Amino acid sequence: MAVTIQGKRKEAEIMTDIKIYNGNQIGGCITVISSSKAKVMIDFGENLPGAEAADPAFDWEAESIDAVLFTHYHGDHIGRFKEIPRSVPVYMGKVTRQVMTTIAKYTKDTDALQILQDDTRVRKIKAAQPFAIQDIRITPYLVDHSAFDAYMYLLETPDKTILHTGDFRGHGHRGNKLLQMINTYIRRNGTRIVDVLLIEGTMLSRLTEKVYSEADMLKDCIRLFKEHRYVFLICSSTNADTLATFYQAARRNGIKMFAHPYVCEQIDHFREAAAGYRESKDRNRETAGGYHGPYDFKYVYPYAPAKVIPAYGNPQKDVTQEEIMRKEGFCIVIKADEPYKKWIERFRDLDPVVVYSMWEGYLNPEHKAYNETYKAFLDSCGHVEYIHTSGHATAELIAEVINAVEPAESIYPIHTENAKALERLNIKEELRGKIRYE
Ligand SMILES: [Zn+2]
Ligand SMILES: [Zn+2]
Repeated sequence: MAVTIQGKRKEAEIMTDIKIYNGNQIGGCITVISSSKAKVMIDFGENLPGAEAADPAFDWEAESIDAVLFTHYHGDHIGRFKEIPRSVPVYMGKVTRQVMTTIAKYTKDTDALQILQDDTRVRKIKAAQPFAIQDIRITPYLVDHSAFDAYMYLLETPDKTILHTGDFRGHGHRGNKLLQMINTYIRRNGTRIVDVLLIEGTMLSRLTEKVYSEADMLKDCIRLFKEHRYVFLICSSTNADTLATFYQAARRNGIKMFAHPYVCEQIDHFREAAAGYRESKDRNRETAGGYHGPYDFKYVYPYAPAKVIPAYGNPQKDVTQEEIMRKEGFCIVIKADEPYKKWIERFRDLDPVVVYSMWEGYLNPEHKAYNETYKAFLDSCGHVEYIHTSGHATAELIAEVINAVEPAESIYPIHTENAKALERLNIKEELRGKIRYE
């Protein structure tokens, strides 16, 4: 399903066109924006697991896309990248490329690896640094999300300025500067007019949900580690913020983090990027807040309980990783999957706690994304705690962003199952009339 809106024709040859695909669902995110000279796609995502419809075919030949811009590395935005014809360049953040490469490496996906390692095809984007595809000027802005480097894109065609938010939120470690970033860099204190806003509305289906911020979660996790020194953590290996929250909470209690080498490699990407932000001269501009603190990840080790850790100078004092874990406590990152049961069993005598820090929808048999494996795994775990925060903007923040962007022409909710709820938000009256639907 697609909707086409057309810009005002100022000159015969200038006309901006926007096509939104799958805007009325979460998943399969695709937007195509064209001027008279260029056509760019923002995201080429897969439908979420359990979706009724298969991913619809995209007619690359007829559409002749000049470039694909990815907002971030979640599958509902980047999942179909291998289908993109080899002649089309793809733009993504540095960490997005690294995270995708690590996934491809560990899943032995040689096709994906080949694309990701192709420097002529994969183009790097940098926050607040504009580039052009023909007559479309594009500026990415880094935002807070449950993916480490997620971007909004501002596209300026000869007759329209369009902001595509991608996925974002305000309650993560880097979220508090979002509105300031919009006012200063996107709106330039009111001097730049945005005509069209495409805004994600995941949380429009969960209007009453209260914000549980990463900061609140950190406080709760510090308490958790005080009470329980042996914690298995089930969370996404690419959710840098949740990993950072648990890592920081563990560290405050003198506890180290352990994980599969794959997870350690992902964590290395986050640590390295955050260190780069620290050195950046203009970090507010580049990072929508420049908050690098939680991602130091210094005490994260590949899980190898039998490994001998040498006590330098005195071999008699050598210890195994397991001895350290048992003495100091641990936060071991796992997946809700069969092979990890052995990891838990090894420490069963310590009465460990398993923390599930992912979306609860996966555990709900009523939900289409229900995951039987996760449910069965958790049922076998014993003591389970549920601690999770959403990667998406609350309804309140969605309204604040709309008011700050103040689109001159139209507002399109995307990435939502409840677009109509946008009308009930606390947005300025003159903006309410600009809401359009797919
Ligand atoms: Zn996302
Ligand atoms: Zn998404």
